[in-house]
Amino acid sequence: MYFNHVIEAVGQTPLVKLNSVAAGIKGTVLAKVEYFNPGNSVKDRMAIRMIEDAEKAGLIKPGGTIIEGTSGNTGMGLALAAIAKGYKTIFVMSDKQSKEKQDILRAVGAQVVVCPVDVAPEDPRSYYSVAKRLNQETPNSFYPNQYDNLSNAAAHYDTTGPEIWQQTEGKITHWAAGVGTGGTICGVSKYLKEQNPNIFTLGLDTYGSVFKKYKETGIFDKDEIYPYKTEGIGEDILPKNVDFDVIDLFIKVTDKDAAVMTRRLAKEEGLFVGWSCGSAVFGALEYAREHLKEDDTMVIVLPDHGTRYLGKIYNDDWMRAQGWL
Ligand code: PMP
Repeated sequence: MYFNHVIEAVGQTPLVKLNSVAAGIKGTVLAKVEYFNPGNSVKDRMAIRMIEDAEKAGLIKPGGTIIEGTSGNTGMGLALAAIAKGYKTIFVMSDKQSKEKQDILRAVGAQVVVCPVDVAPEDPRSYYSVAKRLNQETPNSFYPNQYDNLSNAAAHYDTTGPEIWQQTEGKITHWAAGVGTGGTICGVSKYLKEQNPNIFTLGLDTYGSVFKKYKETGIFDKDEIYPYKTEGIGEDILPKNVDFDVIDLFIKVTDKDAAVMTRRLAKEEGLFVGWSCGSAVFGALEYAREHLKEDDTMVIVLPDHGTRYLGKIYNDDWMRAQGWL
């Protein structure tokens, strides 16, 4: 039995029980470990789906170029799809993303353009603007736009959601995920709430991001926006993939709490995962400690792998320089 290409190996990731970090919590806390995907992140699922939907819609032609703004993980998924299907790739990243993510994308044949992070999304230097401009200037190019492309949430509605429902035999009561484009949390939440409307969905946000305040007040408050370090979650825009109706509550997690929890996941659970995994687990456990009952089952998504953060949160000198160790 074999796959014709590595992209066919995307999905069917395991659920793993959290033990040490979840000590004292009533109920069962499970992690959906997405680094088992071939690109080592949850974003493989939606990257391939965006390309396949674009092919069906005639938006990308043989020999074309895929251009995307990415924090790194979507780029990896798109690069694998591009290799399988014969496209070129150009990725536009902000300079806050780890060096490892740039190197990984170059390793799989992509061209990488790095832009400053501390400019407004509408600024021509922002990675959103540069990706759009390159798309306009490059013939036969396709700009997936993971933020507003609903193939993103659809991939999770069709794969991640049903996997979690089957793996928990319908016993899941709480679903928790960090929110970036919103594709993961909302695609899964929509599917799970259709199976059981009582399932509670918890979104993890960062300080410096607009989501929590928007959910609670309906106000897009620019004062909520300031630089933060956690990679992959929190936004200064409202992506179309975020459906606030299927997220019951947002909790914000600090960069430090996320980093420290990520290191605990590696050392105490053997889960060598990325920084936003610590955000998701820290925030979800804060909620679970107060609200989970004996028979409850919480599933938390762990989006990516620890190798991408070796120069930052897994580096003791870097941690000390932040005052976090
Ligand atoms: N964590 C990491 C490391 C990511 O790269 C992303 C994607 N931006 C997320 C979490 C959030 O996932 P989503 O975009 O589906 O909300």
